[in-house]
Amino acid sequence: MSYLNKLHPKEADQALASLRLFAQQENIPIIEEDTARFIKQLLSIMQPTTILEIGSAIGYTATLMAKAAPKAHITTIERDATMIELVDKHLSGQTVSERITVIQADALKLSLEALPHAMYDVIFIDAAKAQNINFFEKYEGLLRRGGIILVDNILFHGMVEQEGLSKNLTQLMRKVDRFNRYVLEREDFDTALYHIGDGLCMSIKK
Ligand code: MG
Repeated sequence: MSYLNKLHPKEADQALASLRLFAQQENIPIIEEDTARFIKQLLSIMQPTTILEIGSAIGYTATLMAKAAPKAHITTIERDATMIELVDKHLSGQTVSERITVIQADALKLSLEALPHAMYDVIFIDAAKAQNINFFEKYEGLLRRGGIILVDNILFHGMVEQEGLSKNLTQLMRKVDRFNRYVLEREDFDTALYHIGDGLCMSIKK
């Protein structure tokens, strides 16, 4: 993948470039470079007006999505107080922040009424990997027909097909694998699992 990353020009957007650098320095996982390119192109084709993100981390993807979809309002949910502080810090002073609502909550406990929109065009799930089925089932009702749910890290650094992992990782990988099989079986969604970044799932609501 480094070949393709080297081939592409450097990120021209200063805010995104410095957020990626910060994530690397602090060892905080954010979407990989090819995932970022893919989401950026996808959103610029779709031009969604409402986006829901579960798992803000440092606010990189929220910023990227806001820039790729200039008509969109983004709601991003993050439970970790340290990350919330970083998101607030990174968004302050950026014009896209006017279109981003940050909610500090556990997305599995949050009341749907607390969200600024009743329906979403795009839902991006990038939070606790063991909870992917629960996140999907809780929020799919808010997705309009033709809308998409994206789920990051469905290959979990290749570990999902690895043997001889620790007990905890094996359990986690079983859950990652269970979601991948589950989502492919959902006949009300058109789903494909892609080898992009750390694995990206895209489900289109029929
Ligand atoms: Mg991720």
